[in-house]
Amino acid sequence: MVDPKLAERLANVQGGIADAVRLAGRPADEVTTIVVTKFQPVSLVRDLVELGIRDFGESRHQEAQAKAADLAGADIRWHFVGQVQGKKARQVRAYASVIHSVDRDSLVTALGTPLDSTAPAGSDALRTVECFVQVNLTEDPARGGVSIPDLAPLVERVLATDGLTLLGLMAVAPLGADPKRSFALVAELGAQMRGIAPAAKCLSMGMSQDYAAAIAEGATHLRIGTAITGNRPAPVNLKTS
Ligand SMILES: *Cc1c(COP(=O)(O)O)cnc(C)c1O
Repeated sequence: MVDPKLAERLANVQGGIADAVRLAGRPADEVTTIVVTKFQPVSLVRDLVELGIRDFGESRHQEAQAKAADLAGADIRWHFVGQVQGKKARQVRAYASVIHSVDRDSLVTALGTPLDSTAPAGSDALRTVECFVQVNLTEDPARGGVSIPDLAPLVERVLATDGLTLLGLMAVAPLGADPKRSFALVAELGAQMRGIAPAAKCLSMGMSQDYAAAIAEGATHLRIGTAITGNRPAPVNLKTS
């Protein structure tokens, strides 16, 4: 049976999202909620599927790959929201419907496919993966994301790469900053980017603590973890092999 506390947290967040969407005067179907299940057991993902969730976010490749394999055949979409190692890029691409964290040229190269016309229909070599370019709003390169001055060239690079469909921009609001101002900046960068990428209309922004501000600034993809899942267990130490 599904934990009633989980159902209650989900309903609370869904109510909060509906309120924020209404307040912003935006159509409800413009906003996709991704439940971030990193460090959580696959049983929790199953419970959320039972509660009607179809979009799940993960940030570590080995864990995401294992969950995707466990739930193979389920009608769900995996969103990869963490930093992608170049040498794991092809593997992430194999199970992820959307990669939110494209942040450098070498990763675009690793993810891109020279579309192979001899590949069997439905194979990875022909499948296009949707992606966001992640923008780093801090001065700390370890945070992930491309710096603002390097954003436009990276967007050009994604547009020129077969096998990738650019949805828009992704960002995490920096700690200690006003999230509304951070998200307004992302929206502004998104508007500028549409000069070169008119179809890339989406904004992946807003987490447990700041989703209402993100909705007010135009978020189309919310990435919400703990407000729905409850606290995360400590990360399991994974083998590095
Ligand atoms: C963990 C994570 C989230 C969800 O964070 P919560 O504060 O638990 O909602 C969203 N985006 C990214 C990139 C994350 O790593």
